[in-house]
Amino acid sequence: MALSLSFDILDLQTRHPFTIARGSTTAYRVVHVRLRDSDGVEGWGEAAPSRYYGETADTVAAALARLAPALPADPSDLEGADAALLRAAPRDASARVAISAALHDLAGKRLGAPLWRLWGLDPARAPLSSFTIGLDTPERVQAKVREAAPYPILKIKVGTPDDAAVLRAVREVTDKPLRVDANAGWTVSEALARLPLLEEMRVELIEQPVAPGDLEGLAAVHRASRIPIVADEACRTAADIPRLAGAVDGINIKLAKCGSLREALRMVEAARAHRLSVMVGCMIETSLGITAAAHLTPLLDLADLDGAALLVRDPFVGATIDGGRIVLPAGPGLGVRER
Ligand code: MG
Repeated sequence: MALSLSFDILDLQTRHPFTIARGSTTAYRVVHVRLRDSDGVEGWGEAAPSRYYGETADTVAAALARLAPALPADPSDLEGADAALLRAAPRDASARVAISAALHDLAGKRLGAPLWRLWGLDPARAPLSSFTIGLDTPERVQAKVREAAPYPILKIKVGTPDDAAVLRAVREVTDKPLRVDANAGWTVSEALARLPLLEEMRVELIEQPVAPGDLEGLAAVHRASRIPIVADEACRTAADIPRLAGAVDGINIKLAKCGSLREALRMVEAARAHRLSVMVGCMIETSLGITAAAHLTPLLDLADLDGAALLVRDPFVGATIDGGRIVLPAGPGLGVRER
């Protein structure tokens, strides 16, 4: 039995230009990867490449050509596959995770069970998902907050000189729990200077306040802050976690950073061993990629899986986050189908 790999590049469009501290766009390209076994059973996965981590749809396509010869002879050899794929494309995490997700999808389909069940998880334990509001003028941010009415927790992108005006505008129109994500957009002194405002606005979590390489700075903000600090850009794989312990309160796992579902599980274990809270986030991606990440959520404290909810058109149906509640599919494998 040999697996054959094929893929399509999908153009996605967000409803609003999605702006964070390092840029803005409405057009995203993701890669839908299919692994077909010799008897026709298919596993699917999605690569949601990020330029920030050195990937684009084109680098994913090139990486998939290097990864295809590294596919396991036995599709159920998930551990062996992980090691071989990492060797074949060490810097192409989103390309690798698409294959990892497809192998897990295939394994679940063979066994007739959803991935959460193979992992022994209770889907009712998933935390609520937040919904993200990108950077914008205070007026437009208020309009987006109103549009996000069904979602019980909001994540507000910050990291500009307008942070105070934006957060005050948000608080004028909602009492919901607020989290902020600076995407490394503050200096340490800017982060420290904003803490009183963030407390006044009853922000419950601060994501990646300062540059990912600045562990000292992250630790300084953590020491000064009564609000928990979560590392996102500073935490790509489990190997990053020991040095973050003591410098943050939690980590944000993203499949496009960590490169495999098994690595994501290792990150959960490593974070727990270091008494860190664990969040799962996403890129702008379809419900295929979101669903792969959503299967982890019963293990986690926090979730931000709104990537597909921000799209004009989502080509897949899988896990949903309606009203913030993460509902995992009951179908085998990832449980994703085409819309
Ligand atoms: Mg983030």
